[in-house]
Amino acid sequence: MNTSELTAYEIAVAQFDKAAAYLDLKPGQCEMLRRPKCELAVNFPIRMDDGSEQVFTGYRVQHSTARGPAKGGIRYHPSVTLDEMRAMAMWMTWKCAVVNIPFGGAKGGVICDPTTLSRRELESLTRRYASEISLLMSPEGDIPAPDVNTDGQIMAWIMDTYSTRRGYYTPAVITGKPIELGGSLGRAEATGRGVMLSTLEAMKYRGIDPEGATLAVQGFGKVGAPTAYLLQDKGCRIVAITDISGSIYHPKGLDVRDVLRYAREHGNLIAGYPLADSIEADEFLGLDVDVLAPCALEKAITAKNAPRIRAKIVVEGANGPTTPDAEDILADKGIFLVPDVLANAGGVTVSYFEWVQGLQCFFWSEQEVNARLDEIMVRSFGDVLRTAEEKKVGMRVAAYILAIDRVARAHALRGTYP
Ligand code: GLU
Repeated sequence: MNTSELTAYEIAVAQFDKAAAYLDLKPGQCEMLRRPKCELAVNFPIRMDDGSEQVFTGYRVQHSTARGPAKGGIRYHPSVTLDEMRAMAMWMTWKCAVVNIPFGGAKGGVICDPTTLSRRELESLTRRYASEISLLMSPEGDIPAPDVNTDGQIMAWIMDTYSTRRGYYTPAVITGKPIELGGSLGRAEATGRGVMLSTLEAMKYRGIDPEGATLAVQGFGKVGAPTAYLLQDKGCRIVAITDISGSIYHPKGLDVRDVLRYAREHGNLIAGYPLADSIEADEFLGLDVDVLAPCALEKAITAKNAPRIRAKIVVEGANGPTTPDAEDILADKGIFLVPDVLANAGGVTVSYFEWVQGLQCFFWSEQEVNARLDEIMVRSFGDVLRTAEEKKVGMRVAAYILAIDRVARAHALRGTYP
């Protein structure tokens, strides 16, 4: 079957079914885990700068709260759909379970193109959306965070809106906040740090020396940029970076922090970076590199382009970048894949630390945050690799087996109400 045509949620369910076959789940339990626990869709008006009113649609989907409060980001993007939110919420459940932090999974989003909104419109949209989803949000029930096109400022507005409605300062309702408002040191780079750690573990497994190893990084935002410079700090050569504006290449390795400086001065885009060659997007995926790190959006690697991939390792910094049929092609080529629910779990792990710090009003040093993150990432990678070897399955199925088992056990122990 051509699974590149499946929707994100259909892909998430197919991945679940593949792994669930290795577990002894009751049919009712299986059916519950295949579906989201709760879905909220909201339509709300925003007064635009030109005086008109525009109606926006947003969602918040909770997949599971069996192991703890629902946790997951909020994205602003024209392509947001309820289907996508369902998939992303389910992936958050497995992600939190893989790294064994006490959260379930959720995701939210608003259909919009934030680049066309003024700062005032963005703030209005954020506050109104936050108000609409306050039905679900709480420090004990559902804790959002940044995702595609959302940042610390947006988290601050959501926190303020929720706190104003409650009548008191409630920082633990959201993570990814600015440090001044109870954010955690290390959170901004945490997802990239987790991708970096997973990549190093994968290199160790495949016998690749990080010193001089070559990488191609797709996406240069909150995940791709820190992934690239943190791996450069470990001695890797980042030979290519791509974003929506174009792809840049330097065989000796790019100076990633210099590319970042350039991007910041050019609307957060890398096109035109002077100290590299510009290459075609097609060429980018086919580069002969040790590691390819897709850190942009879902469905970047499909059955169409997977045959061209020559990397030895694919590390999924993005959520859902590889379709199931593409994954089979990569496996046939002997490419080692580190799945999203493991590779990019560093972000939600430090979100967990931020939530704990917020509840206790007791803050940790960056060194402590990073040390705890490193320990969780390395341990989780080892757990997944061991499961993969024991069950003779790929890393994604292994991660799902671990995660589904943890969630299903929590479900069974809690029992069925009433
Ligand atoms: N949006 C991030 C993710 O997909 C972080 C979620 C969180 O910290 O809750 O993992």
